[in-house]
Amino acid sequence: MAAIRKLNQKLDGFRLFAGIECDILRDGSLDFDDDVLSELDFVVASIHSVFNLSEADMTRRIIRAIGNPFVTILAHPTGRLLLKREPYVVDLPAVLDAAAETGTWIELNAAPKRLDLDWRWWSRAKEKGVKCVINPDAHRTERLQDLWFGVGIARKGWLTKDDVMNCLPLEKIESELKRKREG
Ligand SMILES: [Zn+2]
Repeated sequence: MAAIRKLNQKLDGFRLFAGIECDILRDGSLDFDDDVLSELDFVVASIHSVFNLSEADMTRRIIRAIGNPFVTILAHPTGRLLLKREPYVVDLPAVLDAAAETGTWIELNAAPKRLDLDWRWWSRAKEKGVKCVINPDAHRTERLQDLWFGVGIARKGWLTKDDVMNCLPLEKIESELKRKREG
């Protein structure tokens, strides 16, 4: 975070945001304290373990996590890996309602093995006023281009640039990133 802040003072013409992907633990708590999360510009929360909860427990877990004011984005909301792992069982309409209520953005994970949230859900999310953010989930710079798969899937789900936070200009993204945490 300190290095990014320093760079932002030095760089001209673009801005780096400090963010993290934070684990949603079994009970819906997060693996960083609010003290740390509040220092970041954005927080992506997601599930990477304990996939076998009941639908009720999984739904409660996710809704508790996105109730945290520092969680900006719920990432890969069903955990599916195409041709490899089924989505975990979760009440997606309830999650979308909670996202709308808390002002949490939902990720369209653009990695070809995920494409999660699936295109079929986006018109429903849009109807509820949930914002989409397209992320490449890139673990290496070469994979940043996966973003384009996400753009295609967003279009397939009838989203337009008004629904996708990536499309906002810099001043707007700065204020939108603060909106939820500042209530
Ligand atoms: Zn992840």
